[in-house]
Amino acid sequence: MFRSVNPATGEEIATYSELDADALEAKLATAASAYRHWRATSLEERTALLARIGDAYEANRERLARMATLEMGKTFDSALAEIDKCTAAFRLYAKDGPAMLAPRRQALGGGGTAELHWLPIGPVLAIMPWNFPFWQAVRFISPAIMAGNVGLLKHASIVQGVATLLEEMVTEAGAPEGLFQNLAVKSSRVAEIIADDRIAAVTLTGSEGAGASVAEAAGRALKKLVLELGGSDPFIVMPSADLDEAARQAVKARVQNSGQSCICAKRMIVHAEIYDAFMDRFTAGMKAVRAGDPFDKGSDMGPLSSFEQRDTVLQQLKQAKSLGATLLVGGETLDGPGAYLSAGILTDVPLDSPLKHEEIFGPIAMVFRAGDIDEAIRIANDIPFGLGSSVWTNDPTEQQRFVREVEAGMTAVNQMLASAPEAPFGGIKRSGYGRELGPFGMHEFMNLKSVLHV
Ligand code: NAP
Repeated sequence: MFRSVNPATGEEIATYSELDADALEAKLATAASAYRHWRATSLEERTALLARIGDAYEANRERLARMATLEMGKTFDSALAEIDKCTAAFRLYAKDGPAMLAPRRQALGGGGTAELHWLPIGPVLAIMPWNFPFWQAVRFISPAIMAGNVGLLKHASIVQGVATLLEEMVTEAGAPEGLFQNLAVKSSRVAEIIADDRIAAVTLTGSEGAGASVAEAAGRALKKLVLELGGSDPFIVMPSADLDEAARQAVKARVQNSGQSCICAKRMIVHAEIYDAFMDRFTAGMKAVRAGDPFDKGSDMGPLSSFEQRDTVLQQLKQAKSLGATLLVGGETLDGPGAYLSAGILTDVPLDSPLKHEEIFGPIAMVFRAGDIDEAIRIANDIPFGLGSSVWTNDPTEQQRFVREVEAGMTAVNQMLASAPEAPFGGIKRSGYGRELGPFGMHEFMNLKSVLHV
């Protein structure tokens, strides 16, 4: 049994029953037979379906967004933006997908040619988190449909309402039975599904712990895996930066989605020369962030996704303070029901503290002072993660050093980092491996076949 609880009120919204063994078996069998059909479809058939799914998202925009807000507390406006991004992704693959799959010819030194074909690989299991409950699943399923694969979704337990809508949109757009199915199962059953011969590959977006378990199961079954895990992204501000804009974007980059994005800027690393000037602006910006009813247009943030999630962040704050860190502002629970937490700033976090190895998944920024660019890069890299980064400088030499030396899968220059359907997304180190989105993301789950001709 799954319970959906509105984190803004603490009230139960709905319950969903778990698949029993027979129902799971039926879904795996349906996926296998859907793949036998879908792998042989023309590119035109696939792009037409993707376009219709995009239309379904557009037509159901408000209904879908409402479910995300109710189940995990994001503001309704940000939920609408998430749905629009999903629509854009389906339309992008409908438009550019065929070019991403175009075969190539390679002349061989010994004579003849190799033709390189991108072919599908089969049913792919996607294990997804609650933080962008539509987008995380769509960035997997939209290229998968184009590739000729079929998808199975094990969504986070707290967003089963979204999970059913994700399947409904694909089905209502006229997809063949089994092309994309929601599996309402607990995480304890994931290893058994990965081991099933009908599953060809696995993708997981989630925490390090889930990543390690899924990697173990995929390794035992020798199946391809993409891991999109956590991050503690640096946001580096140098003296030549536009400080007003940097501070404004730093606030947004930290508190978006109530601080629950893998690519939130979680550690602000500020050059000593402009530290005080930046902090005046940043502190004022963080204090001005309004946490409140996610359906109220005046709220910048809703609650955290659950009371458990808020307890985890409160525990991290307690630990930080006990290690000598200063909670400069915020980090307070609000009166009334709801898992609310105000935007906060931690300074004086010891560089050798355990927090360095943790991700704070809530609206709390850590701020560090750096004497020069070498120290800024050292602090940025001195963590186990390597997902995203944002660097603020108008000096081209500094920009090049950051691009080369910051250990991350993505670097945004003079802007906050955001994902785009066209650009590859993913990390290094303990943030995972592989990429999603763009042609590289699509190709992760494809068979690149060399066809040799005389
Ligand atoms: P989570 O607890 O790891 O859950 C993610 C998914 O994995 C859920 O569907 C969860 O199912 C499942 N899961 C958990 N433990 C598992 C296990 N041992 N075996 C198999 N499946 C398991 O993460 P979360 O709290 O939902 O999401 C937050 C984390 O995701 C953060 O660390 C964040 O940085 C990361 N994230 C990364 C990206 C990226 O692209 N790199 C994007 C978004 C979020 P249940 O809900 O049933 O436990």
